[in-house]
Parts: sequence; C-alpha cells; structure tokens
Amino acid sequence: RHVMVCGGPGCHSSGSPGIAERLEEELSRRGLSEQIKVFQPGCFGFCEKGPMMEIHPDNITYCEVSADDVTTIVEEHFLAGKVVEHLLYMDPNTKERFPANIPFYNGQLRIALRNVGYIAPENILEYIGADGYQALAKVLFEMTPLDVIDVLKDSGLRGRGGAGFPTGAKWEFTRRSQADQRYIICNADEGDPGAFMDRSVLEGDPHSVIEAMIIAGAAIGASEGFIYVRAEYPAAIRRLQIAIAQAREYGLLGQGILGSDFSFDIELKYGAGAFVCGEETALIHSIEGARGEPTVKPPFPAQKGLWGKPTCVNNVETLANIPAIILKGAQWFASIGTEKSKGTKVFALAGKVNNVGLVEVPMGTTLRQIIFDIGGGIKLKKTFKAAQTGGPSGGCIPTKYLDLPIDYESLTAIGSMMGSGGLIVLDEDDCMVNIAKYFLEFTMDESCGRCTACRVGTKRLYEILTRITEGQGTLEDLENLEKLCHIIKDTALCGLGQSAPNPILSTLRYFRDEYIAHIVDKT
Ligand code: SF4
Repeated sequence: RHVMVCGGPGCHSSGSPGIAERLEEELSRRGLSEQIKVFQPGCFGFCEKGPMMEIHPDNITYCEVSADDVTTIVEEHFLAGKVVEHLLYMDPNTKERFPANIPFYNGQLRIALRNVGYIAPENILEYIGADGYQALAKVLFEMTPLDVIDVLKDSGLRGRGGAGFPTGAKWEFTRRSQADQRYIICNADEGDPGAFMDRSVLEGDPHSVIEAMIIAGAAIGASEGFIYVRAEYPAAIRRLQIAIAQAREYGLLGQGILGSDFSFDIELKYGAGAFVCGEETALIHSIEGARGEPTVKPPFPAQKGLWGKPTCVNNVETLANIPAIILKGAQWFASIGTEKSKGTKVFALAGKVNNVGLVEVPMGTTLRQIIFDIGGGIKLKKTFKAAQTGGPSGGCIPTKYLDLPIDYESLTAIGSMMGSGGLIVLDEDDCMVNIAKYFLEFTMDESCGRCTACRVGTKRLYEILTRITEGQGTLEDLENLEKLCHIIKDTALCGLGQSAPNPILSTLRYFRDEYIAHIVDKT
C-alpha cells in the first residue's frame, strides 16, 4: 500500500510533514513499514481541507488530518480494515461523506498539473514511470526542430504567464533569429498576491519543466537554459536542484543527451522578490546582473535577449503542458478549450469561497462552475459580489458575467485579464474601492520607478483613492481618477504600469455606485 500525505504549500503549513513522520514511526513500531509506504507528493489542490491523505490502492481520501489522528488511522484503517468515517470529506450542504471522488475535483482536467500530487517529486524514476522524458526521446529521435514547432503552433498553446502569446510562434521567432547562441529561460518569478500555480508545479513535478526546457532547446537551437525562480520559494528551489542533478546523472542534461548529438544544460537563477522582474526584459537584465528594469520592446527577447542573443522566455505552466502535447499530439490539445484559447488553465482559487485551492479547468469553463461547483459557493452563505482575476494587473468581474465562458479574449473584453491565474472571490461585505486601493498599493510599491507615468501616476491615483475611502473625496476626484488611469495606461513603459489602473477602471465600470457612496455619504 501507498499512503500519500499532501506536501503542497497549504498542507505543509498545516503540519503535513509532521503527520507523515508520525505515520512512519507508528507503522515502523507495529512492523508495518515494509507493507505500507509513506511519501509526500506535491499539492493535491484541495487546500481548504488540508492536511490531506490518500491511501492506495484503497482509493480513500482523508481530509483535515492531524498528527493525533495517526494512531486511529493505523488501528482502524490498516489493522481493522475500516474506513475512518469522520476524516472523510463531508459536503457542507447535503452532509454526504465521500471516501473518494470528492466533488471539488469534478469538472477539473489536469494537464499542467497531471503529475502534481501523484508522484514523488524527488525521484526521477517516478516521473519516468509516468511517461516522463518520453516526449524528449520522441523530439530527439523522431522529429525535426521544425516538426516540434509545428506541433506547438497547431496545438494552439498560448503563454500562461499572462499575455497569452502563442508559444509555437515565440519558438519560431527565436529559432529564426540568426545567432551563434540562443537561450531558453523559464520564468518562475511568480509574484501575484495569492498565486501559487507555478510554485505547485515546481514543487510537485519539477521534471516536467526541465523536460520541456530541453525540448525547447532542441527546437529553437539553444544549448543553455536558465530557470529564474523566486528566492522566496525554497522548497521549489530544492526540488529543482535535485531534479537537475538527477537529470544530469541520467544523461538527460549535459553533453550528447540520450546518446544524440544535442547538448543542453540548465542553470538556476534566483529572483530577489521584485514583482517587475516577472516582466521578461526586466528578468533578462536581472540574470545579466543588471538592475531589474524593463526596456522598450522591440527589440523583443526573441530577437535580442539575454546577453544580446535570441532568447525564448516561457512561464512554468506553459512549459509543463509541452511534454503532454508532444506525446498526445496537437489535435488532442486543440480539442480542449475555446476557439482561440486551447487547453486548460490553472487557477489559485482564494478569498470568500468555501473550497480554497488549486484548480485546473478547460478554457471556456465559466466562473460560476469554478466558484460554485468546484469552489463550493461563497463562505457563510453570503452573496457573491465579484471575482478578481489576473492579480494586480487584472480587474473585478461582477455577477452578470458569472456564466461567461472564460478565456483570454472574454476576460479582456470585460475589462479584466487571465493574468497568471490568481482568482480571488469577493462577497457582499467587500468594499470594491478598498479592493482597488489594495491592488494599486501593490503596483505602486512594485513600480521600478523608471517612467514618470507609473512612478508618479500610481502615487497620485493612490492619494485620490485614499481621499475617497476616508470620506474626503469629491466628484472631481472621480473624474481625475478616471482620466489619470487612461493616461498611465497609454504612456507607461511596461505591462506593470500599463495594467496598474485595471483594478480601478473595472471597479469604476461595474461598482461606480460604491465610489459615489464614499463621496456623497462621506464614509
Ligand atoms: Fe518601471 Fe512602471 Fe515604467 Fe514598468 S511602467 S518600467 S514598472 S516605472
């Protein structure tokens, strides 16, 4: 038997390592450690009910387990052969208990997260056992670099870091740029408040990212790759270090990969926590040892990137999709999602929702399905007010769009954006002006200061919002707020500044009455 104790960030912070340790001790004390193996894979996704434990092949999931439950689990489940009823997930409305097939997972489709929570991330053999590195072998021995690029183009995969640029086209541009050296960079500088999609992939399935980077290297003609990962993600860094060392040991990185004539290696670079370093030109400067500030595009990194050489920058989630696309084919991937947004998207579901966690759904799933079916509805039976998508660059989506199938285009059309996948649910008690102010404060603090529109403009916006929320605003303030938002959008140099006004503009669009109430009622 295998016992998997969730090792994701949420369960880890609620004590899952201690539970795994206690279980191992208890099993060993009773002479059961040979028959029952305990390990900690990555995030199961259902963070709300953590720490979670799955027992295989029994197909039983226990929720909200504590170290004190370990003796009961051993005595009742393993020795007496009985399910520990009170640790099964209970639907809060029907009071039905679920030994497995918990409703939270219904409607989800795991492609980027396919191995997260299922394999032991520190063991390359588990990844290989889950078809790992087969896509790489196919690329090296059965496909030309142009075949690989064509598969990605046909699949319709778009960048999951926020902008949604077609990945195959990006690889093609990089390959076409004439140079003696090209680079591939994995952008693992996840910085949106509340977002942990990339972190979960890196901690739970680091080899999928490494395999995709080697494939990218073979396709675009790069022999060197960099993973730019936040220094605040120590577990992800440790897993990546182990995975890179294992890949080298198994001949998957280094000279003559798998006996082919292709050589490629990966180096880790650590970000120091500046949000703007998630912007690709700032990230490149940071790797070069320069100040992490964006520069004007063009030239795009695909033409002139790291040390002036053509560079392809892909986000963690984008890369995690690639081995599956190579193995299962472009048509398989393109058959999932909407007309212009193919595949799935991972969201970090947070805020006033019953089932906080990590979800992966096909593009085109509605907000209602995510928040009410998967998320279990609003906490304390309160009323839904809005969903904030896209992190500090995104916007707030009101009730009338709950049934809109979400993809890159539909979110942009209603004044929000996909972003990297943060999804924060707000209820009747949330003040939308304060929400806009919260996100603006974040972008104001994170502005690199290079251009006036962003450096000074966000401060002026913040001052106006402060006046309004303190009951000292005027209707003229409201006019100026809107005007300044448009000026900043039009004149800021990079995406951080251009999108900083989005939370204000979207709340003005859908919740203007709340701004006016602060002004008129002086509250
Ligand atoms: Fe820096 Fe803001 Fe200008 Fe971007 S828009 S370069 S973050 S000052």
